[in-house]
Amino acid sequence: MKVLVLNAGSSSVKYQLIIPEERKVLAKGLVERIGLSGAMLSHETFDKSPVKMTGEILDHRVAIEYVLSILLSPRHGVLKDKNEIDAVGHRVVHGGEAFSGSVLINSDMINEMTKCIDFAPLHNPPNLKGIAAAKSLLPDVPQVGVFDTAFHQTMPSHAYIYGLPYTLYKRHGIRRYGFHGTSHRYVAHRAAELVNKPLKELKIITCHLGNGSSIAAVKDGQSIDTSMGFTPLEGLLMGTRTGDMDPAIILHIMGKEDLSPGEMNTMLNKHSGILGVSGISSDMREIEEKYHLNDRAKLAMDIFIYRIKKYIGAYTAAMGGTDIIVFTAGIGENSDMVREMTCSDMEFLGIKLDKNKNKTSRKKEAIITTEDSRVKVMVIPTNEELVIALDTAEIVRELHKQPV
Ligand code: AMP
Repeated sequence: MKVLVLNAGSSSVKYQLIIPEERKVLAKGLVERIGLSGAMLSHETFDKSPVKMTGEILDHRVAIEYVLSILLSPRHGVLKDKNEIDAVGHRVVHGGEAFSGSVLINSDMINEMTKCIDFAPLHNPPNLKGIAAAKSLLPDVPQVGVFDTAFHQTMPSHAYIYGLPYTLYKRHGIRRYGFHGTSHRYVAHRAAELVNKPLKELKIITCHLGNGSSIAAVKDGQSIDTSMGFTPLEGLLMGTRTGDMDPAIILHIMGKEDLSPGEMNTMLNKHSGILGVSGISSDMREIEEKYHLNDRAKLAMDIFIYRIKKYIGAYTAAMGGTDIIVFTAGIGENSDMVREMTCSDMEFLGIKLDKNKNKTSRKKEAIITTEDSRVKVMVIPTNEELVIALDTAEIVRELHKQPV
């Protein structure tokens, strides 16, 4: 089966054409600056040299038309006919409480997703545009939605209800939803495979550390808690987001600095976190370089690490122990410094890092603890696109089995 995986953002569409049964990526790429000047498509395949194209890409429909035409191009493509695409899998950020797994896209699903726009105003509208465009260009191809929030729907209510009047949960759906679910799910499954044990018998802490970062406690294969909350702002210190803080600070700053809700929102999401504390950059590579040279770079890194450690401690308590800790995403996969700092002074929890293994494990799967370490620490590159392709293929196979 050939599955086209689409991840539509506000001004971009990422895509991969995957044969899920073989875990093979035939082609992948990115359309950027949709609706802006200098819109561009970057495309690569498994067997031809990469290519970049510019064009007037006014909306998501045109973007996906470009994607289809390059996939079909005799020079750069991998398909002879559009009909070779068996299914489309869409990354969808917010499924609210309606979805605890991936689903076939139909009008009910679109209605539920539309209801969640309030929760993810920056993400669900472009996701919906991507779905509408793909449906109009490939009308006979089944389409599946894979939600970032779905994996965390197993959290118990004591983990997802905030200390607000309960009626606000009932009336407005104010609760912890959690994000990066597809990534947490993928790396937890891979971790179980790497130690050759059933996922159902393991307590795993998955650390997705990228521009946005979150940690999840995965007990017996289910997410029982995660650090992101109602929005992706809660939890760890992130590239430009605050993470956890006293909510009273927000009202206090709005009064002192005379900020509107919109301005405050921008400060919390875009000017805070590692960038806000360091005053240098949101990029961990620059913070690492300046760690010993600049006090505020050091402070940003120290806060980042301290919070990861706190969550590891908290989730170990929440699960009654931990067997595996996984590092993934841009920082988790690449930064041996972050992994080493996180695992230092954690012997009391049963973590013994092997510094050599840690250094040599860039961007590839590895167990980076010593043989006698009770807790295994792993690096596992995430692969959300593969999960989307696998879920899509499974749902479409079931669909074909059903009597017409
Ligand atoms: P992601 O959101 O998963 O794509 O992660 C992006 C982030 O990964 C970047 O902002 C960097 O901070 C971080 N990153 C990428 N490569 C490295 C590296 N070699 N060392 C440290 N951090 C890195």
